[in-house]
Amino acid sequence: MLTNHFLSAEARAELALFTDALDRFCAAEIEPHYRDWEKAGQVPRALFQQMGEQGFLCADVPEAYGGAGASVDFSFAVVEVLSRRGYAGLVGGLQVHTDIIPPYLLHCGTEAQRQHWLPKMVRGEAIAAIGMTEPGAGSDLKALRTTARRDGDHYVINGSKIFISNGQNCDLLVLAAKTDASAGAKGVSLFLVDTTTPGFSRGKNLEKIGQHAGDTSELFFEDMRVPADALLGGMEGQGFVQMMRELPRERLVIGVQGLHAAKGALDVTLKYVQERQAFGQSVGQFQNTRFTLAGVATEIAAGEAFLNACTEAYRRGELTPEAASALKLHASELLGRVADTCLQLFGGYGYMAEYPIARFWTDARVLRIYGGTSEIMKELVARSLLGR
Ligand SMILES: Cc1cc2nc3c(=O)[nH]c(=O)nc-3n(C[C@H](O)[C@H](O)[C@H](O)COP(=O)(O)OP(=O)(O)OC[C@H]3O[C@@H](n4cnc5c(N)ncnc54)[C@H](O)[C@@H]3O)c2cc1C
Repeated sequence: MLTNHFLSAEARAELALFTDALDRFCAAEIEPHYRDWEKAGQVPRALFQQMGEQGFLCADVPEAYGGAGASVDFSFAVVEVLSRRGYAGLVGGLQVHTDIIPPYLLHCGTEAQRQHWLPKMVRGEAIAAIGMTEPGAGSDLKALRTTARRDGDHYVINGSKIFISNGQNCDLLVLAAKTDASAGAKGVSLFLVDTTTPGFSRGKNLEKIGQHAGDTSELFFEDMRVPADALLGGMEGQGFVQMMRELPRERLVIGVQGLHAAKGALDVTLKYVQERQAFGQSVGQFQNTRFTLAGVATEIAAGEAFLNACTEAYRRGELTPEAASALKLHASELLGRVADTCLQLFGGYGYMAEYPIARFWTDARVLRIYGGTSEIMKELVARSLLGR
């Protein structure tokens, strides 16, 4: 509906070539297999390698670390295309790998840590995950109980994490643990855990109500000894600061996912209502359908303008935590409304798993929960308004 005027005509043309190539890749390599991956509860590791070979992973990682050094738009374009096509289960894990972890390494890691992990991640040879949430600490991250005790030139880590995207497949886990249990937020540190380390184990792939192609797991650490140079940036007690620094991009990319999944839900609905007949006309001819779809398209256009403004702020290094939270709140709630409204226009067929709108609807629900719940997003926005 709108042209993104934050991008030059040349940049838009390059992006169009990139997304055309990705669309062809999706049609050939993802669409024929996606339902099988949903049944299996995860995508094959080989998909990451295939996507890496095509330049679809971590596109904005600098060339020095094996990336294309492209603008962030190329990385977001991957999330846009996959989300619009209805592959949210894949997107959930992919965005952790390609949009969430690389900035931790680039902004907070040591040169050796960047050199070690980023080229393998760009190629899709090492799959990355992030472990913050614990059974007793989700929204309230300060309550986390996983500990990392210094022992000579190692740390000994004990504890567990839950709901970890890419948990079954990950080779690298960015892990939040307490290095000083008495220091509150200042006692939290982040570690780059190589998942071949003895003492690391994976629980079963958790059964979810949606996003079935994405694996989500519990992870366990039992006297897991990691070398001291696995501490992100070599700095103890900086974990909270590092997470607060990187959460805006996480929330921005969930905004990208939400907005483009909403577009995908609208796409499949527009097609359906023009085909389905009732009372001697297509469902799309009823005034209710027309007004409903006009309302949905208008909501999406307004959301997209907000998303474009936040992306531009991110490009300039000026995206504030409260704007990223507001976007995540807005886009995930918008997707929930749009998916539900569109499903209604399918009648009973909308409730059948084989219809794509059913997948949009079930996959949408978790966007209001992961990356920080809608209530936490409201708290963060309110804090910026009220000062505490
Ligand atoms: C599919 C999936 C994938 C995920 N992937 C990852 C991952 O890769 N890595 C990772 O670390 N985590 C991941 N998570 C975890 C996710 O980020 C958490 O589930 C989320 O932050 C909420 O935490 P919680 O589940 O403990 O809920 P709780 O914190 O227990 O919240 C329960 C309810 O209380 C509300 N609430 C809590 N505090 C407040 C407050 N102060 N004010 C008002 N309401 C409040 C919440 O909004 C919610 O409605 C994933 C979760 C899912 C479901």
